[in-house]
Amino acid sequence: MVKLTKSGSIRINFRSCRDNQIKLRCNFDCSYCIRKFKRRRLHDFIKRDYLKTKEIWDKLTKIEDKIYARIIFDGELLINKWTRECVFYMSKLPNMEVLEIVTNNSINPKHYLSSLNLEKTSFSCSFHPEYISIQKFLKHIHILKTAGCHVYANIVCIPQIVKFIPKIINLFKKYDIILKLQAFMTPDIRYLVKKYPEAYNIEERKILKKFFINKEEYEFFVEKKSTKGLLCYAGVDMLNLFLDGTIRRCFTGKICEFYKYGGVKNNLRGNFSDLFPNKFRDNINTLTDQGVFRFLSRKIKKHINDEIDLDDLISGKIKLQRKAFPCHKNECLCTAHLIGLKHIRDKFLLSNNFVGMYNLTQIS
Ligand code: SF4
Ligand code: SF4
Repeated sequence: MVKLTKSGSIRINFRSCRDNQIKLRCNFDCSYCIRKFKRRRLHDFIKRDYLKTKEIWDKLTKIEDKIYARIIFDGELLINKWTRECVFYMSKLPNMEVLEIVTNNSINPKHYLSSLNLEKTSFSCSFHPEYISIQKFLKHIHILKTAGCHVYANIVCIPQIVKFIPKIINLFKKYDIILKLQAFMTPDIRYLVKKYPEAYNIEERKILKKFFINKEEYEFFVEKKSTKGLLCYAGVDMLNLFLDGTIRRCFTGKICEFYKYGGVKNNLRGNFSDLFPNKFRDNINTLTDQGVFRFLSRKIKKHINDEIDLDDLISGKIKLQRKAFPCHKNECLCTAHLIGLKHIRDKFLLSNNFVGMYNLTQIS
């Protein structure tokens, strides 16, 4: 058995696809959903995808490390038979400590709870008020909590919602539910002709500052403080794993590279693929993932796609870094990733119940 990390536990964000090709359908159609702004091809998750998931996670039962996994498929997991099968399967893996399911909480939990290992499962429920009433959302959370599951809720702070945040947070508090605010981020699109978080006005910022779960998240996600060069555990005991078996440090960043502030990097495999523009590489990756040119895909991938995959890691060909190392991006795009920043870890305890959350108890 191989041990991947020094600490003996690893946080894995399991995602459907790596290069912004949304593959999963959703039963909501929120006005601010990224799929509205980008031409994304929707793809039903099918049995083949389930089998692939099973194959990947079976490999991960061969590692010594305890696994804290978060499954997020950029659509709704619990409306599709085969994605449901994935979460049921993953919740029962022997070395799974926590499986955090990210859901819009629209499906009555009574329909799926009995198929999960509830001791290991926690729920990160996203509240999307355009498509679900607060009553229904809270009722579903109540069912989850009564069944013994750990639950927290989050809400994307679109501009229309910000002034209602104090009231909404209080209501959730009455039901003993933490509501975590998420900044609305539109890195390369406009929402109501504005770009967020830059377009939040002073009043909105005051509210967000007061109600964000901690000062650090507010600074990084609303004030856009740069992460570049800060020490981060992504690639040490945290990684993103994609349905095709690829692994990355977070959304980007190769596991085996050592990033230095300023962009200098040492790549164990060479940088052949850097000769191609990202868009071209992404298109080739998508086609090969979909099995188009199946007979050529291996050869194409060998040259175009120099991604690292799980086999490289499990076989020992590629090793995770041993110490936190500098962030290679100007901004971190996900709260479940930001948790890797060393100076945040130094201040907070990692949650035992949720992969994407640190305990609020400040220890220093
Ligand atoms: S619930 Fe999430 S994925 Fe579904 S439409 Fe709304 S924002 Fe998009
Ligand atoms: S701070 Fe965020 S973007 Fe930077 S390396 Fe860590 S996880 Fe990745």
